[in-house]
Amino acid sequence: MRLVLTDRDGVLNEDRPGGVRHPDELRLIAGAADALRRLNEAGIPVALVTNQSAVGRGLLSPAGLQAIQERLVAELAGAGARLDLILIAPDHPERAGPRRKPGPGMLLEALAHFDVAPDEAVMVGDDLRDIEAAQAARCRRILVRTGKGAAVAAAGIPEGLQPVGVCADFAAAVDRLLGPD
Ligand SMILES: [Mg+2]
Repeated sequence: MRLVLTDRDGVLNEDRPGGVRHPDELRLIAGAADALRRLNEAGIPVALVTNQSAVGRGLLSPAGLQAIQERLVAELAGAGARLDLILIAPDHPERAGPRRKPGPGMLLEALAHFDVAPDEAVMVGDDLRDIEAAQAARCRRILVRTGKGAAVAAAGIPEGLQPVGVCADFAAAVDRLLGPD
């Protein structure tokens, strides 16, 4: 496995109803930053691929999103962790382009950026959209039970999206990815 693609809300940081709208609302999920650091130390690049429709809806300014991202990067750095690439789809859901998940656009951009084949990349997400985007990009896929993930797992993942690994959280997903097969 040569590339990890990860969602943001519900995977690295706690999701909120209506989304994170201010840096002070950003709360990392326990263990996520340390797990990211372990990927960094293993030499595996990590790309953040996140939908942020609050921007497209006019509920969050681009500068506001930038401030939240800067807080995320700073909090990760505090744990010695970094994201190697950050891709954001600000699209309004009703006017979504191919970058907005479940479209595969951001994932394909990340694959091209790191020159990695889809089957050597894994997407970690908490939403069915993440899994759909990964399937569309032909990447491997892991659903975490944090954020929306527990409800998604309970509802049952459609057969057409399988195989999907299900892990408790990002740290458990990284354990699986770095562990012996
Ligand atoms: Mg999410």
